[in-house]
Amino acid sequence: MKLDVLVFASHPDDAELGCGGTIASLTKSGKKVGVIDLTKGEMGSRGTELTRAKEAEKANEVMGVSFRVNLDLGDSLLPNTRENQIKIIEQVRKTRPHICITGAPFDRHPDHGKGTSLVLDALFYSGLRKIPTSDEAGTPQEPWRPSHILHYMQDRPFDPDFVYDISEHWETKKQAILAFNTQFNVEEPGNEPETYISSENYFKQLEARARYFGHLAGFTHGEAFKYYLSPTPLRSMNVFFEHAPKR
Ligand SMILES: [Zn+2]
Repeated sequence: MKLDVLVFASHPDDAELGCGGTIASLTKSGKKVGVIDLTKGEMGSRGTELTRAKEAEKANEVMGVSFRVNLDLGDSLLPNTRENQIKIIEQVRKTRPHICITGAPFDRHPDHGKGTSLVLDALFYSGLRKIPTSDEAGTPQEPWRPSHILHYMQDRPFDPDFVYDISEHWETKKQAILAFNTQFNVEEPGNEPETYISSENYFKQLEARARYFGHLAGFTHGEAFKYYLSPTPLRSMNVFFEHAPKR
């Protein structure tokens, strides 16, 4: 099963927060997008790995994601070992994505930077013929390396290489994030503790950020990305002719 885009997330909900609008836009235009969650989010203060898994399924429906795997590499651990790299390489060789989107290089939550570093190593090693892997049926897999790797923004802002227009997809992104209803904008917390992300204020900040980066690029809402192995390669200037922001 060939994917156009494969998105990596250290925790279920990271993909939605970082690039849920981009995913929704891509699937709407007919692209096949998959998500690989590196952990089950079992160390989260609210919810459980079971609620998180159900919430991820709902988010998939909202965003039009047809392939999602959880590698269960250990929330708060995520060691960059050959064993963990192989688990990622097997998925990359199976789905052969043209573009991979991974988390921020550094962030408030240490799992984010650690997950990104593990994914970047695995994506490179996935192209090495002398690292053997096999599929579920035991058939040896061919090496594969994506042509492009992007980083989505997480909690801490970075200086992006480009902003993608998600103006038409902000509502979908919002619904995909709210699918994780144990985590975000929780109106009735019950006995569960308040967290960094559970308040309405955190949720409002998400839209403020989408609007801020959107505004800088001349859109209503945007998602900001870094291009790994910068500079970003362009083969045509069409992107500039198709968009005329007020300057
Ligand atoms: Zn996370």
